Amino acid sequence: MDTVTPTKLSPASGTYQPKGQLIGGKWIGSVSGKVITIENPGKKTSIAQVPHAGAADVELAVTAAEKAFPSWKNVVPRERGKLLLKIAEAMEARVEEMARTIAMETGNALRTQARGEAKLAADIFRYFGGLASELKGETVPLGESVLSYTRREPLGIVGAIIPWNAPVMLGALKIAPALCAGNVLVMKAAEDAPLAVLMMADITNEFVPPGVLNVITGYGEECGGALANHPKIRKLSFTGSTEVGKVIMRAAAERIVPVSLELGGKSPSIVYPDADEDWAVDGIINAMRFTRQSQSCTAGSRMFLHEDIFDSFLAKLEKKVTALKIGDPLDEASDIGSIINNKQYTKVCKYVQDGLDRSDARLVFGGLPPKTGPLSEGYFTMPTVFADRSNDWRLAREEIFGPVLVAIRWSDEAEAIRMANESHYGLAAYVWTHNIGKGLRAAHAIESGWVQVNQGGGQTPGMSYGGYKQSGLGREFSLEGMLDSFTQRKSVTVNLAV
Ligand code: ADP
Repeated sequence: MDTVTPTKLSPASGTYQPKGQLIGGKWIGSVSGKVITIENPGKKTSIAQVPHAGAADVELAVTAAEKAFPSWKNVVPRERGKLLLKIAEAMEARVEEMARTIAMETGNALRTQARGEAKLAADIFRYFGGLASELKGETVPLGESVLSYTRREPLGIVGAIIPWNAPVMLGALKIAPALCAGNVLVMKAAEDAPLAVLMMADITNEFVPPGVLNVITGYGEECGGALANHPKIRKLSFTGSTEVGKVIMRAAAERIVPVSLELGGKSPSIVYPDADEDWAVDGIINAMRFTRQSQSCTAGSRMFLHEDIFDSFLAKLEKKVTALKIGDPLDEASDIGSIINNKQYTKVCKYVQDGLDRSDARLVFGGLPPKTGPLSEGYFTMPTVFADRSNDWRLAREEIFGPVLVAIRWSDEAEAIRMANESHYGLAAYVWTHNIGKGLRAAHAIESGWVQVNQGGGQTPGMSYGGYKQSGLGREFSLEGMLDSFTQRKSVTVNLAV
């Protein structure tokens, strides 16, 4: 992927072309001069080059952020908020360009995914822009001769590392609250999808002083590792795999730096016998994120179906899912785009092969992708469902990050909940029933940071989002998330008797 020789680039029309990485308000190349070539996974073509940043680039970015911090933290919060609102407006004005860029670099379909992500990112800036006044402290009643109060102060330089699956949404979720609270930021974009994040940085840079937001582009261990271990970083915010989350947490432990982790999932969906209906099938398709190739940490990839409706529900699901159109992410007609890269594509295919090889598992629909024809021109995979095995095989335990759903039969409610909780993950969950009492009892019994009843939607600004167990630590997306993750409390106690 790394190259210094000119590569023929063929970006899609109306997409953002990068100018370098953003350090101290300027667009610059990497210190080494090396670049990373970015691929369009829907066509397997090279579309752009970005700097290949390493430890020296991290150093420059941290220095720029350090310089910017003293004055940024003293900007009156409401004024910082107003800047975020202006960024939201400027992003909205360029939603289409951002959406096309996301579709081109991630393979996520423009109509069903990328456009919504670009709009949501602008909305995240708007939401946090309106919250600047809420960075309030408290007074402590210690008697008439003492004034004791708390202040919410920024932490300083935040080191943020984001993945490729929803890069702009996940980037906005860190940039907006961190800056609102008066922090400065060094963000490492994912090596597979940095372009729309650079575009978001470009827009943000028009409104905030140099060095307040720095975005660098490099590989995981080399660049992300240097950022996580930099002694001047005062807070780490990471979204990605549980495996790398542990590495980040170890780096944080070395320096007693607070850390937020939004990690993997293997989220259960429990379908009750009264939900054998079209709305529940549509909801399951949404919850499984089939139109995002299921490259989502909240994908409801373990479906616990009541035995009375097992076959009828699967038949309905097959009819609806196989009607979805897989194809060029930039084509408005496509419902489903492509997997991000060859590595993930190969990994997903191996899981499918594993399912096909098991004589005790039944392929309901889907399977391996075609080796010839238009779908072989990109990393396209087929939505796939396996049935008849229990909760204990590899496909039901490991995060596949691809469109492979396992259907597991249940008859006893307590057993269904026990199986749902039998995972080291606990990010999201879904419950499907008309019986609201049952639905809510299940929602309360499931060990997950987010349970949806009778819907399978995505996150909305305002909800505290984050995982239980090995799915993460801390919450983002909300006012509480901003206060807990991006501020520290100081107590000031004053003797009034003097
Ligand atoms: P994914 O499988 O979704 O790519 P990763 O956890 O591997 O998830 O990557 C998420 C982000 O973490 C990416 O920006 C990646 O470059 C970065 N990353 C990967 N390995 C490391 C590491 N050892 N240290 C710091 N960052 C890393």
